[in-house]
Amino acid sequence: MPQLISRKQALDEISKQAGAGTCLVCGLVKNEQVRLLCQSAEVSVILSGYPRFWGQVMICLNRHAERYSEITESEWQEISRLSLQYMSRRSAAHSRCCKPVRTCM
Ligand SMILES: [Zn+2]
Repeated sequence: MPQLISRKQALDEISKQAGAGTCLVCGLVKNEQVRLLCQSAEVSVILSGYPRFWGQVMICLNRHAERYSEITESEWQEISRLSLQYMSRRSAAHSRCCKPVRTCM
C-alpha cells in the first residue's frame, strides 16, 4: 500500500533535498541521479519521487528558467521529442501491464 503524504510534505522534502535557496527544479536535476531516466545536453527526464500517479515523469531543463519565454527553440524541440518518447513508452507499458478495456460510443 503506498504511503500518502500531502503536497506540502512533498514540497518540503524536495526543498530540503535541493538545499536552502536553490530552485526546486534545478535541485531535482542536480540531485535525482537515481531516478534520472534520460539526459540530453539541454533536458532531463526524471521519474517523480513523489508521484501523483505511477510512472509520472518530469521533463526539466538542465538550466534554470522561470518563464516559457526564456526557453530556446532548441530546448522546446528537445522537450517535445522526449515528452513524446516517454509518453509513448508509458502508454505501451500501461497497455501491456493493465490490458485496459476500451469503450465504444
Ligand atoms: Zn531552476
